[in-house]
Amino acid sequence: MAASNHFLEGKKIIVVGGGIAGCAFVAALHKLWNPNWRLPEIVILERNPRDVRHNYSISLHGDSVNGGLVALRQLGLLGETLSHSIFGLRSGQFKMWDVNWKELMSTQPQPWGDLPTGSMRIQRSDLERILVREAERINAAFHRGVECTGAERLANGRIRVAVEDEAGVKDHQDCDFLVVADGAQSRLRAALRPHDGLKYAGAVQIGGRAEFPHGIPEPIEENWGVLLSGKGVCCYFSAVDKDTVVWALSQQRAEPDTRTSVATPDRFAALKEEALRLGSMFSEPFCTIVESTIPSSAFVTAAMEKEPFRHDDPSLERIVFIGDANHAVSAFAGNGANLALKDGWDLAENICHQSSLHNAVAAYDRLGFARAAEAIKSSHQKIDFAHCTSVKDSLLRAGLATGRWFMRMRGM
Ligand SMILES: Cc1cc2nc3c(=O)[nH]c(=O)nc-3n(C[C@H](O)[C@H](O)[C@H](O)COP(=O)(O)OP(=O)(O)OC[C@H]3O[C@@H](n4cnc5c(N)ncnc54)[C@H](O)[C@@H]3O)c2cc1C
Repeated sequence: MAASNHFLEGKKIIVVGGGIAGCAFVAALHKLWNPNWRLPEIVILERNPRDVRHNYSISLHGDSVNGGLVALRQLGLLGETLSHSIFGLRSGQFKMWDVNWKELMSTQPQPWGDLPTGSMRIQRSDLERILVREAERINAAFHRGVECTGAERLANGRIRVAVEDEAGVKDHQDCDFLVVADGAQSRLRAALRPHDGLKYAGAVQIGGRAEFPHGIPEPIEENWGVLLSGKGVCCYFSAVDKDTVVWALSQQRAEPDTRTSVATPDRFAALKEEALRLGSMFSEPFCTIVESTIPSSAFVTAAMEKEPFRHDDPSLERIVFIGDANHAVSAFAGNGANLALKDGWDLAENICHQSSLHNAVAAYDRLGFARAAEAIKSSHQKIDFAHCTSVKDSLLRAGLATGRWFMRMRGM
């Protein structure tokens, strides 16, 4: 391609959603853009009027080319990200425990290539802040408090995005290329692909954030992981900072839970009672953690997901969905942010290296579709595995024992 003639040169790109995928895409496009080409105008439209504090932590993977840490290194943001690691780089492992907190398995993924670690945990808010700052630093216009409600193709081929500000005032913005990164509940997907919504993945979690002003109890002060019961119930734990830990007790159920809020005193008391009853087989510090839950943080949530899609439908010409807006994985996957980071990088890279927008999107689809389909498959396996009943459980334990022996042999 001639250096002076890129198909998006001088054009306008709108990115709907200034979260992980949207900001990763903008930062990657800026990094990979040939300085001989005129930059497109990039506008990010973000619904939230200000930074939102997300009170949970996420795992970023660096054990394969599909890990979020690979994308962060490509973006030049790895060092800053690692400096926010909750457990540091030398400690902090994913563990599986039995009902008495006896370790069944511990994983320490091998770093891919020369990455300094195979995995890390970071507060979701820290990661988002790093990415938003990068998008703002490179002069993308970042408009907050703007909700996008729909999009349509104009007769001249451009895309018109309908927007609404905080006061409810409706307007629109036109662009040559639309990147939709507005998350799992995507309004634009609902408008453009009304039959492609989230589906229940078969498990319900109840949980909250427990506070420990004198320090998080062992063994979750240094590791994160899941308590397995072998009776169809499991409980996940992960520190958010040195004082707080998120717990989520889950069960496979035929139907999603219909409770919407559990923050009132009565509902909160009922939720704690339910957790203590369902998790009665778990020994301390399980009860202490449940009892230390901050009422306003209590939640009931159904695992939801959505299969990925390719952009081969002509109605999507000049429109690309990335991150959760394209393929939502449930929390059991522990992978949605990794996929979002890689989607952002891969779309930008193909835009910069392919000869047309059509080829760039097709190349992005080849990578993103397969990656997300695999993540959803793996998430189903994790849901089955974590909620296994006794017969499966004994098989599982045998498998785990073999796995632990194998890891020891490898010096892990
Ligand atoms: C409790 C929990 C634990 C998790 N743990 C992990 C983990 O360990 N590892 C992992 O990889 N992932 C994890 N995830 C998933 C991960 O957080 C998501 O997959 C990831 O944030 C998806 O990024 P995204 O940019 O696609 O969407 P989002 O991060 O949801 O960003 C979407 C953005 O779009 C904005 N927006 C929404 N609608 C509109 C609109 N109409 N107009 C304008 N803007 C809009 C939103 O305000 C938001 O800023 C976890 C999620 C949860 C909830």
